[in-house]
Amino acid sequence: MNTQTADTLPTLPAAAPRPHWRSLPAAQQPDWPDPEALRATLSELESYPPLVFAGECDQLRDKLAAVARGEAFLLQGGDCAESFAAVGADQIRNKLKTLLQMGAVLTYAGSVPVVKVGRIAGQYSKPRSKPTETRDGVTLPAYRGDSVNGFEFTEESRRPDPERLKRMYQASAATLNLVRSFTGGGYADLRQVHAWNQDFVKTSRSGQRYETVAREIDRALNFMHACGADPAQMHSAEVYASHEALILDYEAALTRTDERTGQPYDLSGHMVWIGERTRQLDGAHVEFCSRIRNPIGVKIGPKATPDEVLALIDRLDEDREPGRLTFIVRMGAGHVRDRLPALVEKVTASGAQVGWVCDPMHGNTFEAPSGHKTRRFDDVLDEVKGFFEVHQGLGTHAGGIHVELTGDDVTECVGGEVYADDLRQRYETFCDPRLNRSQSLDLAFLVAETYLD
Ligand code: PEP
Ligand code: MN
Repeated sequence: MNTQTADTLPTLPAAAPRPHWRSLPAAQQPDWPDPEALRATLSELESYPPLVFAGECDQLRDKLAAVARGEAFLLQGGDCAESFAAVGADQIRNKLKTLLQMGAVLTYAGSVPVVKVGRIAGQYSKPRSKPTETRDGVTLPAYRGDSVNGFEFTEESRRPDPERLKRMYQASAATLNLVRSFTGGGYADLRQVHAWNQDFVKTSRSGQRYETVAREIDRALNFMHACGADPAQMHSAEVYASHEALILDYEAALTRTDERTGQPYDLSGHMVWIGERTRQLDGAHVEFCSRIRNPIGVKIGPKATPDEVLALIDRLDEDREPGRLTFIVRMGAGHVRDRLPALVEKVTASGAQVGWVCDPMHGNTFEAPSGHKTRRFDDVLDEVKGFFEVHQGLGTHAGGIHVELTGDDVTECVGGEVYADDLRQRYETFCDPRLNRSQSLDLAFLVAETYLD
C-alpha cells in the first residue's frame, strides 16, 4: 500500500511558464513597411465589436465533438482565398447554395448529420511557398492575400498595407451578415431544396441528379408534415465561419475574454485552423492557438510523423476534449493510403478523440501545360476514397471533408465537365484552383455513397 502523504511526497520542480506567442518565431508573417501604422491599425481593431460570439464557438465545438465520436460529418468548404472584390450578394449566395446542396445530399443520401462550416468571412490571408514572385525578369513580393497586399503584379499593389486588415474585418462582417440573413431568414429552409437548384437543374448533369434527391426530401417532409411533425431544425441551417489563423496580429486583435467563462476566444471566426506551413511545435501559431478556446483545426501533410501529431495533441488539446481538435489531412491521393494509417493508429491508441477530416485538394496540385495551377478531379475523388478506406480498415471514423470550392461556374480543376483546354476560360481564383458547383455536388454524391457502404 502507498502510505505517502502530501508531506512526504518529493517536491516537483515548478513547471516553466509558457512563453508568450509573440516571443516565438512566427512563420509566414508579412513584412509591414511601417510598424507605427500597423500598431495604430491593431489598436483600432481591438476596439471593434467581435465578429462572432464565444457561445457560438462552444456550440460548434459540441458539434465537432459528435464528429470526433463518429456521430456526425463535417462539411468544410469555400475559397482558397476570399477576395474583397468578391464580397457580393451573388457570389456569397452561390457559395452558400453549394454548401447547402452538398449538405442535403450528404444528410439524405448518406443518412448522417452534417456540420456545415464555410471557409468564409475571414479567409483572406495566404501562406506562400516563396516570399517573392518573378515575372518577365521583374521580382516583387508574393501576393499574401487581400488582408496584406494586392493581387495585381505592381510594386505599389504588392506592398503590404495594414489598412487592409481593417478591410478584412469589414469584408468578414459584411459576409457574415449576409450568411446569417440567408441561413436564418428562410433561405436555408429544407423546403427550399428545389429553389437552391433552380438555376442549375437544366444545365448540369449533377444538378439533375440532385433533383432526384430533392424530390425524395420533399416527399419525406410531406410525410412528416402529414404526421404532424414540423421540427424547427428543418426551417433553418447553421453555417459556421472558419479561416486559417495566419496573421497572428489580426487574430490577437480580435481575441476577447468571454464574460461567461473568463476564457479567451478568437472572435474573428468560429473555428480557425493552423496551416501545414505554420504548425511548428515551437512556433507562434501553435502557441497562440493553444491559448484560445475556439475549436482548432491543424493541416496534416504527407511528411507528418506520429510523434509530431501526438505532440500537437499535447499542445492543443491538453484536456483531451472531443471537438477541440480536428486534423485536416492533406496527403495527396498517392500517399493517403500509406501514410495515414500509422497516424490514426497512434492517436487512437493514445486515447485522444480528435476529428479526422480529408482535404483532398492540397496534396494534388500540379501545373498544367498552359501554366495554370490545377487539380485533377479524379485525384480529389481518389484521395477521399483512400481516406475512407483507411478509416474503414482501422474501424475509425472518417469525419468529414475540407474542400476548396465556389458556387460559380469556374474552370479551375480538370475533370467532370472541365477539360485541360478549358482552364483559361474561367480561371478566376486568386490562389488555388477550386471545384465548381457541379464538381462539388459530384463529390458530395461520392461521399454519400461511400458513407453508406
Ligand atoms: C489552404 O488551405 O489554402 C492551404 C494553404 O493549405 P495547407 O496549409 O494545407 O497547404
Ligand atoms: Mn489553398
